[in-house]
This record gives sequence, C-alpha cells and structure tokens, in this order.
Amino acid sequence: MPATTMDELVSLCKRRGFIFPGSDIYGGLQGTYDYGPLGVELKNNLKAAWWRAMVYERDDVEGLDASILTHRLVLRHSGHEATFTDPMVDCRNCKSRWRADQLKDNKCEKCGSTDLTEPRPFNLMFKTAVGPVAEEGSFAYLRPETAQGIFTNFKNVVDSTARRLPFGIAQIGKAFRNEITPRNFIFRVREFEQMELEFFVQPGTDDQWHSQWVDARLQWWRDQGLLSENLQAYHQAGDELAHYAKACVDILYKFPHGLEELEGIANRTDFDLGSHTRSQADFGLSANVDPNEDSTAKLTIPHPETQKPLVPFVIEPSAGVDRGVLAVLTEAYTKETLENGSERIVLKLKPHLAPIKVAVLPLARNKPEIVEKAKAVKNLLMATGIGRIFYEDTGNIGKGYRRHDEVGTPFCITVDFDTLGRGDDPSLTDTVTVRDRDTMSQVRIPINELAAYIRERLV
Ligand code: ATP
Repeated sequence: MPATTMDELVSLCKRRGFIFPGSDIYGGLQGTYDYGPLGVELKNNLKAAWWRAMVYERDDVEGLDASILTHRLVLRHSGHEATFTDPMVDCRNCKSRWRADQLKDNKCEKCGSTDLTEPRPFNLMFKTAVGPVAEEGSFAYLRPETAQGIFTNFKNVVDSTARRLPFGIAQIGKAFRNEITPRNFIFRVREFEQMELEFFVQPGTDDQWHSQWVDARLQWWRDQGLLSENLQAYHQAGDELAHYAKACVDILYKFPHGLEELEGIANRTDFDLGSHTRSQADFGLSANVDPNEDSTAKLTIPHPETQKPLVPFVIEPSAGVDRGVLAVLTEAYTKETLENGSERIVLKLKPHLAPIKVAVLPLARNKPEIVEKAKAVKNLLMATGIGRIFYEDTGNIGKGYRRHDEVGTPFCITVDFDTLGRGDDPSLTDTVTVRDRDTMSQVRIPINELAAYIRERLV
C-alpha cells in the first residue's frame, strides 16, 4: 500500500533525517526545506541517476554548471521580466494573498471570504543586490530556471566541443521562484533544484524529437521505481503554454495531494537562442529586443546540410529534483502487517537510490573482536565503491533492522560469534548473516563472497 497521506511522509522524513523545515529553530522560512543526513544521499543518488542517463549513457550530450546569479538582461531578453508571473489576488477581508488559479470556488483559503481583488500578475523572480553599492540597477536575479545558463553558454559549448546538431547540454542546479503560496511539503517551494536538458535540433525535426524525449523521460521515471499507473503524460492546451513554448507535455505523478506535474517537456523552438542573438533581423527572428541592450553573440550553429548559420530549435525535458524525491518516497513508502500482527514501515526504494546500501551491525558492541571484524566487513564493501556502507554498533539488532527498513537500506549484515568461529557450528566461521529488506529473509554468506553477492544485487 503506497503512502496515502503527506503527513506520514513528512513525519518519516523528519524522524529519520531525510528532510527538515528550513530555518526551523527560528520558526521556519516558508517555502524552504533542508535535506538531512539521509535526504542528501537520496537526492544525490537521484541526480546521479539522471546525469548517468542523460550525459554518460548518451553520445550527444555535454554537461554544464552555470552560475545562479544572472544578469538582468538575460532574463529580460528571455521574456521572464515581462511574463514570468502568476495571477495574485488579495482577500479584502483578512488581507491574505493567494494564487488565483489555485483557489477553490474563488474563496479565500484562510477566512472563506469571496471578497477578493481582481487577479493581477505577480513576478516570481527574486532580485538581489550585487556589489557593495546598493544603487538602483546594481542588482541581479537568482535564476528562476537553470535553462538560461545553458542558452547563454550555447556558443561556448559549441566552440569548445565542436558539437553539431542534434546535441544537448545538461545541467542540474538550484532555481528560485517567489511562489505566492508554497505548499505541499517539498512539492512547491521557493528554492528548489532542477535537472534540465536543452536538446538542440534542426527545425522541422523538433516534433519527432519532442515525442522521443517524452517516451525516454517516462521510461526513466519508471526506472526510478514509479509505477506506470501513477504516471500520466498530459499535453498542454494552447492557452496553458509558457511564453516560450510551441508545445509542452507534462509528466504528472500521483502525489499524496493529487495528480500533479513532476516534469515538463517543452518545445521551446528558437525562442531563447533567437532572443539572445544579436542582429536578429539577419535570421528573420521577431523577438522584441532593445538594440542598445543586445547581447554580443550570434547563438548559431551550422545548418547540417547548407552549413549556413542556423538558430536551432530546442526540446527541453525539465524535471524538479525535489518533486522527484517526493515521488520516489511516495512510491516506496509501504506499511506491512507481519505474521505476528505487528506493523512495519519499509521504504522499498530502488537499490541505486537507497541512501545507505548496506548496514553492518556487530551483534555485540562491547566485544572488540566482533567490532573489529564488523569494521573489516564495512571496509571490504566500501572498497567496491557501491555507495554508503553504514557501520552501526547500537547492539540491538532487531531495532537496527526496523530502522533500516524505514530508511530503505536494501541489506543488513550481522557479524556474530559464529563469524569468529566461536559458535556451535565451525562451518559458519568467516560467514555473516545477510538480511534482505523486502523479503526479510536471512542467508549466511562467506565473507570472501560477500562483495560479489551484494554487487550483483545492487548494481
Ligand atoms: P507549476 O505549474 O507546478 O508551477 P511549472 O510548470 O511552472 O510548475 P516549470 O517551469 O515547467 O514548472 O519547471 C520545470 C520543473 O521544475 C517542474 O516540472 C517542477 O518539477 C520543478 N518546479 C517548478 N517550480 C517548482 C517549485 N516551486 N517547487 C519545486 N519544484 C518546482
């Protein structure tokens, strides 16, 4: 049974150290969350899986890590200064503010009043002062999407790698949006991370690439453990499209609070590269650019056939890391009633996402030989490079198992007196007990076969 309530997830995340409210000891800062000891591992594993699929496993994608602070002209020419807004209303009764398109029956969520102002556009971008002189104009934006850093570096990447169409640039990083009403835990926050690919193609081949990317991205989410029945591809209608898009398919996931967007895959055409390109008339582009504030670049690439400079079209799969973490947690969260009537909570995460791959538990913590042996087992597994191996000597094996079930550790290994050759059965010398998270079955494995046994099941 998957998690039915957000409360269960929020509580597990706090209790076990996945996710905490930001600035918690000062009452919290709305729309911010901090990833704890296990959360940072889970998040890093999800990002690594994305990077592997988008960059390492392909031969047509390069990586990038651009800065968060962004020149205002980048976001003016991209259209964000003028149009990156949500409709906001004020409640005249209690003075609270809401995102108009999220209110039910046009009623204030706080006091229930219907006496609301007309919706007006509210720009979601954060500004920050840059440099020691706080004069008008000395500000930069915190990027509202990672994409613009890719567009502004287009020429740098093409020139330094000699890429030709079709090819992509991938980036993972923070983005900031001053959401009017952050809500639903890490689903809608003001500071979040995106995993974005800008895949540049020849105009005319864009529709085909778009549908290929939708299929590839749906498959990737399934590979992270999300069930097909909880995923849906939604084709946006014309009036729902962002200012830069010709078409957009949202991948929706059945989150605890409802079926909502996990990733958007947009056909951004030549909008962005075109807008950032000097002498637009040369290319017949129509973006509204102030000639005094043009960029210095022609963001072009040779046309694959004519070799003439071409502003390519771009397909953009853009996924939220935090929404991804929430989705895999939702899917993995399982409550089981055991034969003896007790209940266990287990996170059935895909092994590659699990924050801890293996926990090594010495049966007794005050027996130096057992402790030493257990540490040697940990080091042996560490050497295989399969991720975090956790040595834990609380001495209570049963509690250890339950804790590791809750955080999704695929295997627990127990080192005991038999391992040392001090039990009744000498054939158990130099073997350990390996317990499987999902089946709870236990097998005895010789230490010299352990690394291969675990690797085979985790990688
Ligand atoms: P929404 O309609 O839910 O506000 P969006 O369509 O504005 O999202 P995009 O601009 O397409 O979102 O951003 C790409 C991805 O970035 C989204 O699919 C989502 O996973 C993530 N994302 C966007 N805004 C937020 C946010 N406020 N908090 C967490 N993740 C976000």
